[in-house]
Amino acid sequence: MIHTFKGGVHPNYMKAPEIPVSVITPPQQVVIPMAQHIGAPNKPLVAKGDYVKMGQKIGENPAPVSAPVHASVSGKVLAVEPRPHPLGDMIMSVVIENDFQDTPDFMEPLNAEQLKDPDAILARIRAAGVVGMGGAMFPTAFKIRGGIGKVDKLVINGAECEPYLNGDHLTMLNYPEQLLKGIELVRIASGVDKAYYGIEVNKKDAIDLLNSLHPEKYGIEIVPEAVKYPQGAEKMQVYAVTGRQVKPGGLPSGVGANVVSTRTCYAVYQACYEGRPVIERIVTVAGSALAKPVNGLTRVGTPFGYLAEQCGGFVKDPRKIVLGGPMMGICATSFDAPTIKGTAGVLFFTEEEDRHVDEPQCIRCGKCITVCPMKLEPVFMYMYYSKGDFENMEKYHITDCFECGSCSFNCPARMPLTHAFKTAKLMFQAKAAKEKAAAEAAAAKEASK
Ligand code: SF4
Ligand code: SF4
Repeated sequence: MIHTFKGGVHPNYMKAPEIPVSVITPPQQVVIPMAQHIGAPNKPLVAKGDYVKMGQKIGENPAPVSAPVHASVSGKVLAVEPRPHPLGDMIMSVVIENDFQDTPDFMEPLNAEQLKDPDAILARIRAAGVVGMGGAMFPTAFKIRGGIGKVDKLVINGAECEPYLNGDHLTMLNYPEQLLKGIELVRIASGVDKAYYGIEVNKKDAIDLLNSLHPEKYGIEIVPEAVKYPQGAEKMQVYAVTGRQVKPGGLPSGVGANVVSTRTCYAVYQACYEGRPVIERIVTVAGSALAKPVNGLTRVGTPFGYLAEQCGGFVKDPRKIVLGGPMMGICATSFDAPTIKGTAGVLFFTEEEDRHVDEPQCIRCGKCITVCPMKLEPVFMYMYYSKGDFENMEKYHITDCFECGSCSFNCPARMPLTHAFKTAKLMFQAKAAKEKAAAEAAAAKEASK
């Protein structure tokens, strides 16, 4: 049986999993930002002039919602200063001059007893700096711990529904046994008997390979899923695999489910069985500006400009750098910004991929409504957004939009729907903050009377 959800679209997938994983030569200098996760940013543990080893912890924060960062090469610390971050702004970073020795400083692998102990596994996940590597970058240890006792369905996300990206598929094909062991560790740490691994059927080779390794031995069931975007969104995964509907504004844990990505499970394997922190990942580098697409094993901290050079350079002027896939990816603003733990893809696009049109006109076709996986009505949300009508934006649940881009993709008039909803959500946040500040000021005034 093939599982799926209602709505969604079928973009041109542009995937190239047949390109084998190549190793990207680490750059002369890596730039390791102290913020590569949702939560409290790390404080640098090293100073200019220090020598660091590959895998050495170089930044941490004791706050519960945080994840330490580690050196991805060995060498001398050149600077500890704000540098361009892939998600914008200047963020405190450690710049390391690579000595190309890769002198390691990994942790001891967990022993047989620890590999069965949820607390030992969770402590290791935290120490290795594992975050949601599907792009969400939420600290994994915190996410799993928060679900213990509340979550009875563990869903592993193997959809990889975003166009271009191949890292999860290639992880399944290249490291199948390690991946199953990583999922088993996440399952043990979560305190559940079974994990459901949802994989789109365009990865049939991976489904067959994983099934041939008897996933049931690890407490895992492979769940084949329809090829449809956004199958890999958490809410869609939970519905497709468990039939449970996450409420608007709610989280999967609200219906007793937790979703962990493929690459995250592999990182958990490396942390527990090999003692390796998160210092590299497969990054798909592609787009029409680039000479050829590459699936490259890339060190964290590799600047985008250098990465493009290593992938054969540009054949056309790049107009946009997109991090992740083209549907939900974020635009980077600097070639100097580096890859981070959540960077699954770096796409260099020319104006050919630019869907912008001046003064687009809605033709009231309703195609945006038919594809919205949240059952929203984008045409009306956009209309009220354009008028700045907060009351009606709220009535049409604009804040339930999770910015999947399906409506924009399906809109023949190329209305900038998703961009508008992103902006609207920020406007709601700003409005709430302003109202809160006003209420606090009023309360303080009242108290001082
Ligand atoms: S309204 Fe939001 S959730 Fe619905 S299709 Fe558009 S971007 Fe996706
Ligand atoms: S798909 Fe585009 S043109 Fe059609 S109703 Fe929606 S916003 Fe209007």
